Amino acid sequence: MSAMNRTTDDLRDRGRTPPDQSRLCIHTATTRPLPLEAAVDEYVRAGVRGITVWRDALAGRSARAAGDRIRRAGLEVVSLCRGGFFVNADEEERIVAIEENRSAVREAAELGAPLVVLVCGADPAVPLPLAREQIRTGIEAVLPLASQLGVKLAIEPLHPMYADTRSAITDLATANRMCEEIDSPALGVAVDVYHLWFDPSLETEIERAGERVLAFHVCDWRTPTRDLLTDRGLMGEGCIDIPAIRGWVEAAGFDGFIEVEIFSTEYWALEQRSYIERIVGAYEAHV
Ligand code: ZN
Repeated sequence: MSAMNRTTDDLRDRGRTPPDQSRLCIHTATTRPLPLEAAVDEYVRAGVRGITVWRDALAGRSARAAGDRIRRAGLEVVSLCRGGFFVNADEEERIVAIEENRSAVREAAELGAPLVVLVCGADPAVPLPLAREQIRTGIEAVLPLASQLGVKLAIEPLHPMYADTRSAITDLATANRMCEEIDSPALGVAVDVYHLWFDPSLETEIERAGERVLAFHVCDWRTPTRDLLTDRGLMGEGCIDIPAIRGWVEAAGFDGFIEVEIFSTEYWALEQRSYIERIVGAYEAHV
C-alpha cells in the first residue's frame, strides 16, 4: 500500500476529509533563500493562498508596501513572526524586549497581519517559574497596543529542548493557563505540531483552548533529528500524526490557514521552486 493510500484510508477512518488547498500557507522562513518578492511570486505560482512573514524578510522594506504587494498578488497575510523573547536576567534588557514587541505589533498592523506569533523567551540564568512571570509581564505590557491596533498575539509553546534559551513555555497547558489568567480577547495560542505532538494532554488542551487557537503550524519530526533547530521534515517524512492533530484543532473551532513552517538546511539548499511544489504535494497527502 502506498503512503498516499494509507493516508487516505486513515482520513476515511476518522471520518474527515483532506484539507482544502485554499487553506495552505507557507512561512517565509520555510523558503529562506527567497527574498520576499520572489517568495510571493513562487507561492502564487504554486497555488498557495497564505503567507506568514518573518520579520527578517521585511528588512529594508516598508511593511505597508510589502503588505500591499502581497495582497495584490492574491495572497493573504496570515501572521507576522515573531515577537517574544521577554525573558532576561537584566531588567533593562526586558524593557528593550517589550519595546521591540511593540515595534513588531506596529509592523504587523502596517503589513496587514492580524496576528503576531510569540516565541516567549528563556534565559539559562533565569529560573523557569520566574521566566514565566517575566513572559506574563511582557505580554501584558504589549497587549494594550495590540488591542488598539487590532492585532492579536499568540503564545506558541515550544518543544522543551528549547527551554534554556527560546521559551519557558513548553506545553499547551501552560500557554492556556496564561491566556486564562490574562483573559484578553487579543491573546491566544499557536499550535505547532513539531513542538507538541508527543504531549498526552494535547487533545484535551486543544479543546480547552477552543477559540483561543489562533494559528496551526505543520512540519514533521525526523528520526534521527540531526540538528535541534534546522532539521525539520516535510509533512509525511516523520512520526507526527498531523491529520489527528488537525482534527483536534478543527474540532475546537479552528478553520484558519494551515501554515507550513520548516527550518531545514537541507531544504534551503534545494532549488526553491521544486521544493515549494513538494510542499504542496506533502500538504495534500499528509495533512
Ligand atoms: Zn511554529
